[in-house]
Amino acid sequence: MKQMFIGGRWLGARDGRSMPVVDPSTGQEFDQVARGGAHEVDLAVAAARASQSGAWGRMNATERGRILMKIGQAVLDHADELAKLEAKDTGKPMATAKNDINVLARYFEFYGAAADKVHGESIPFLNGHQVTLVREPLGVTAHIIPWNYPAQMLGRTVAPALAMGNGVVLKPAEDTSLSALRVAELAVAAGLPEGALNVVTGLGEEAGAALAGHPDIDFISFTGSNEVGALVQQAAAKSAVKCTLELGGKSPQIVFDDVDADRAVPIIVRAIIQNAGQTCTAGSRLLVQRSAYERIVGRVAEAFAKVRVGTPEMDLDCGPVMNPAQLSRVNRYVEKARASNLKVLAEGRIADGVASGGYWVKPVLFGGVPRDHVIACEEVFGPVLAAFAFEDEADAIALANGTPYGLLAAVWTENAGRLHRVAKAVKAGQVFMNCYGAGGGVELPFGGTKRSGHGREKGLIALDEMSTTKTLVHFHG
Ligand code: NAD
Repeated sequence: MKQMFIGGRWLGARDGRSMPVVDPSTGQEFDQVARGGAHEVDLAVAAARASQSGAWGRMNATERGRILMKIGQAVLDHADELAKLEAKDTGKPMATAKNDINVLARYFEFYGAAADKVHGESIPFLNGHQVTLVREPLGVTAHIIPWNYPAQMLGRTVAPALAMGNGVVLKPAEDTSLSALRVAELAVAAGLPEGALNVVTGLGEEAGAALAGHPDIDFISFTGSNEVGALVQQAAAKSAVKCTLELGGKSPQIVFDDVDADRAVPIIVRAIIQNAGQTCTAGSRLLVQRSAYERIVGRVAEAFAKVRVGTPEMDLDCGPVMNPAQLSRVNRYVEKARASNLKVLAEGRIADGVASGGYWVKPVLFGGVPRDHVIACEEVFGPVLAAFAFEDEADAIALANGTPYGLLAAVWTENAGRLHRVAKAVKAGQVFMNCYGAGGGVELPFGGTKRSGHGREKGLIALDEMSTTKTLVHFHG
């Protein structure tokens, strides 16, 4: 049984409760993890608060940065172990898990190196005054993350918060606590003072809600579904704390008839298949100019039919989906598409020999999808690609912007003017031109527009989100 990590110590739930840890490739339980609640959240918030007046709060930025870089190195030193843990916990292929761990290390390296490069400003003001703007930690930062990329999400949200000197409380998703617990242990071994990073494991409606609604936190970083994001924002409003919301997406891949198809097709397929489609930035809508629709969609279908699904050890294109709820969610969308007689252009294949209890979904490409169909508008969060035809640039933009989401978009054309016009007109936090950026991109500011959320993570901009300013006005005559 895995315990929580609070104030530098391992702790079980006060009432002794725990939750199962299940392997998505088999559906079998292989461990238990403590099921924390309001009491453990209280302890973690108190430990994070105490860190602010202890060794962590007194540490200068260079020393903080050095510790973060040591954590990055510790992650790399334990990369195989962490990748195996992550693959077992999520079902993802080993190559994907290894990449995730590498990205986790990159977050600690990037923000470690940046910690002492956050400079203040001097502001011209009235004669006889010197005004200085300094950056300070927010205090106690709460971080609630989803199960799709547990290690990457931890790095993305926790590393910048630590770089700015905050005391952190992390609530991993109930299905995927293992890598967070191991990273917290490695972090303390690398020199992170006790209480600077606390991990409370538990259910969303228990530990998650207690953390979001805690009266002594100063900030919430939430990544997950729109439904829960709305609850978190309400909790933040009650205590008047800032929150960032990284929510869902329905990202368009806009393909014009002059595309370099040899380059584009494998990337287009990977953008939806990666992590079995359970990626907020999954390229789940394929928008192709009508004059090239048959040709391009035909090539995508050919590549799609070669997609193979299997266990982490088989290391194929993708693994199972995360849990039974996710399995029925994806199946429900596929059934709705089939019930509407949408044309199946291609299906991937589940490898022979996988356990029957695993959460297996066959990747599927639907063609000629009506623009108002549920699979055109709602986030499936599975390996389901919907293809549409558009007439011209204006139609492509209207179609791309025709969902409530605005997280990421890709534009594919050899016409540089069109590339930039479309990129400018598309509502998204990131636009990739002749490439696709799902995953990684530690350096690149990231976040949603419209219903995909607000606030920015990744890149140096995250350091602004995870800190506050103080204006010092000095009258010297
Ligand atoms: P989810 O909203 O169900 O859970 C996310 C986290 O919130 C988990 O830790 C969960 O325990 C917690 N939670 C649940 N109920 C809560 C409550 N009442 N109060 C506080 N916390 C609570 O999301 P999920 O199913 O784990 O993840 C899938 C969703 O996440 C998708 O919509 C996906 O697009 C989105 N996502 C977005 C990004 C992004 O960066 N924009 C990245 C990854 C995933």
